[in-house]
Amino acid sequence: MEKGLAAAPGIGIGKAYIIREPDIKIDKSPVGMERVPEELKRLKTALECSGRQLQTIHDGAVNRGEKEKAGIIEAHLMMLEDPMLVGQAEEKMHSMGIKAEYAFSLAIEEQVSIFEGIEDEYIKERINDVRDIGSRVLKNLAGIEMKDITAIKEEVILIGREITPSQMAAADTKFVKGIAAETGSTASHTAIMARNEGIPAVMGVNNIAGLAAEGQMVAVDGTAGTVELEPDEERLAQLKIRIARTQKLKEELMSMKDSATATLDGKTIRLECNVEGTESVKKAAEVGAEGIGLYRTEFLFMDRNSPPDEAEQFRVYREAAAGMAGKPVIIRTLDIGGDKKIEYLGLPKEENPFLGFRAIRLCFERHEMFRAQLRAILRASAYGRLKIMFPMIATLDELKKAKGILEKAKQELELEGIGYDRNIEVGIMVETPSAAIIADQLAKESDFFSIGTNDLTQYTLAVDRTNEKVSYLYNSLDPAVIRLIAHVVEAGHKKGIPAAICGELAGNPKAALLLLGLGLDELSMGPGMILRIRKLISSVEMSTAVKIAEEAAEMETPQQIEDYLMQKYRELGLEYLLEM
Ligand code: PEP
Ligand code: MG
Repeated sequence: MEKGLAAAPGIGIGKAYIIREPDIKIDKSPVGMERVPEELKRLKTALECSGRQLQTIHDGAVNRGEKEKAGIIEAHLMMLEDPMLVGQAEEKMHSMGIKAEYAFSLAIEEQVSIFEGIEDEYIKERINDVRDIGSRVLKNLAGIEMKDITAIKEEVILIGREITPSQMAAADTKFVKGIAAETGSTASHTAIMARNEGIPAVMGVNNIAGLAAEGQMVAVDGTAGTVELEPDEERLAQLKIRIARTQKLKEELMSMKDSATATLDGKTIRLECNVEGTESVKKAAEVGAEGIGLYRTEFLFMDRNSPPDEAEQFRVYREAAAGMAGKPVIIRTLDIGGDKKIEYLGLPKEENPFLGFRAIRLCFERHEMFRAQLRAILRASAYGRLKIMFPMIATLDELKKAKGILEKAKQELELEGIGYDRNIEVGIMVETPSAAIIADQLAKESDFFSIGTNDLTQYTLAVDRTNEKVSYLYNSLDPAVIRLIAHVVEAGHKKGIPAAICGELAGNPKAALLLLGLGLDELSMGPGMILRIRKLISSVEMSTAVKIAEEAAEMETPQQIEDYLMQKYRELGLEYLLEM
């Protein structure tokens, strides 16, 4: 059994489809200026050929209704046509008298090194896309035949040194039963696509493309992070039983899509989705989310060269309101800064970005940008049930100031005769320890609380959420975080306002009963988790959850809490819901 990183959960069995690509050797010797026109022509032909290949992949995805894949390929097509990239390659051929391969690879590396200098997970992911395009063009220049992934018509496991987003997009999802790659991380685009499409994936499996033989049976366990080559009949039978069980459970869960979330004795809690754009709003509606608990609007500002204006934002927020058909949609105002940088805003470099100029602090200074966003949200509130949420609030003064700016925006709209929801609710993210501690005071000025456990964990334990060196400390089930959550819920309820969690903890099925027992009114999470957590909650009495919360609150380490929760799930016969 080979081991790797568990990148997308579930078990898949299929025949090995190995994408083995020869190393591309790049001839760096100069060819002389007289050959340059010919090299330019070769590059043009290779670019056109790459464009046609990508267009075929794109059309295949569109025909199969796979919009996310089509979107990724559209971005690749745009990069391929980027005049800067192509211009750089051409300029190098002219100035250095080199072959098209060498010039294009230099242009790609330049692009990559620009992206590498930017401390941003999202931009880092673009590096893989640039390399993906680079290798396609280089292969076409070298005349290397690529395996026609679009032609796969039997159930396979895609195996390769690397599986690129465009290879993922080329394959018909219904035939891809799993992915095993030597490189890649759980945050890579390929892993994200696999999770969204429910394809089990294991990344970082040492030499898997060398170990596997084309066509042999392979089993991928994306929950455990293992790959088995040629499992015997008995093992295959076992795995098939597990796959069938998971499938049955998925169908059972889908039948809960339109139900409310309630315990056996009728205590309700709302399960909502975290979204980043129009596509994810659609997903949220599809899985039966009871609302959008967190709309991360900063993503609308990424991957472009200037901020979206009021009109553009208005359309996006109105679409979210309409897409959720009357269910509440919480729009979080811009949370830029920290690990979410936006180049064109020209923000200063900081020693401690997570403690610095981020979110509401930045909005106070970039007043016009903030005002445009508030006006856009207010205008869209006439079309559905929008709420406004301010991120990173650390003091009562900040909240009052943000509300003051919102009031001004409302007055402007009144004067202009533009409609908006005059009762729009305004809440805050509780993600700084100070906000959690003074929750009783903030509750007087808020209509709701939403606890951002991602940041609350980072600030409470003083552990940078992106720093691997100290990641052993980063655990939202830490007793300190759990106590702060309990405190915030209690303070909110005393003042009669609801409390939610929209950090990753909300979508951790292990934590679901604990959070229910702590009295949270809403949990907002990725779309993939809603139904499973609905099932967990609807399988217990509220008193059971309260007891779990009381006992967990007495524990001294996150490990004790996790072990205790696992033990409770086993006693309740619910551990199968944690495995799938
Ligand atoms: C959080 O901090 O928990 C949160 C939901 O916000 P983000 O992850 O976008 O910082
Ligand atoms: Mg946060």
